[in-house]
Amino acid sequence: MSRVAYVDGQYLPHCSAAVHIEDRGYQFADGVYEVIAVVGGCPLDEEPHLARLARSLVELRITAPMSNAALRVVIREVVRRNGVRDGIVYVQITRGVAARDHAFPATARPVLVVTSRRKRPVDPRAVDAGVAVITIPDIRWQRCDIKSVALLPNVLGKQRAKEDGAFEAWQVDREGNVTEGTSTNAWIVTPNATVVTRQADSAILDGVTRLAVLDIIRREGYNFVERPFSVVEAKSAREAFLTSTVVGLLPVVKIDGVAIGNGQPGLLSRKLRECYLTHEAAAK
Ligand code: PLP
Repeated sequence: MSRVAYVDGQYLPHCSAAVHIEDRGYQFADGVYEVIAVVGGCPLDEEPHLARLARSLVELRITAPMSNAALRVVIREVVRRNGVRDGIVYVQITRGVAARDHAFPATARPVLVVTSRRKRPVDPRAVDAGVAVITIPDIRWQRCDIKSVALLPNVLGKQRAKEDGAFEAWQVDREGNVTEGTSTNAWIVTPNATVVTRQADSAILDGVTRLAVLDIIRREGYNFVERPFSVVEAKSAREAFLTSTVVGLLPVVKIDGVAIGNGQPGLLSRKLRECYLTHEAAAK
């Protein structure tokens, strides 16, 4: 089955789908996006993703190109045309095409792109053995709550992690606190079994997986607190893990080469991962 992309009103062969060279997303990273998991052919947690997309658009003063009802139809159509059962949908909206000028163009029309692909399954070794993260300075702007396509610091951070043989890079603010990963939210479990993740302020993206895991934690009755935690605290945590749409929940067993807990995925991380898999399965 050949891949199909939705680009500004048309379903096109993926191999020839393109946006204009003066699309402001291309020239200024002037756009926003969402990555939504597809489970059994259905979008997972679509409502919080669309709510976050709407919020990002409002924050950047980009007009939504269509209603959420219409967008849901396009998303399903792209998933269907690509025959995706388990995968992801990528939704991107840019401010549109205009002669290059930093200020907003008077007439540009937002451009919507939707693609979908099968998900590479998460490496079972990463689940069983846990993953390593490194820490890097957070060099991003001050509105990381907006899911903008401007991802260069995240790209550089992930590449650094890859070159260091780690799965992810946890970004660290000037106070020495972990903000989040380059494409994941960061969590620890303290020695007294309290789950800690940074509060959803403008220093992090409020992950949809983060929200789902917080719901699970509340429902299961675990202790948790949303507050900053330092690299020092993380290294002496009982457990650590990370979350995102693409990987779900993965245990972290090493930070900058320091083993977390006994160096194995923690009990609570494994339990929460199981609960998250149940949450995913319920989407079908
Ligand atoms: N933080 C950043 C910087 C991200 O890019 C992402 C996902 O792309 C996340 C966190 C996790 O968000 P979600 O759970 O919505 O995928």
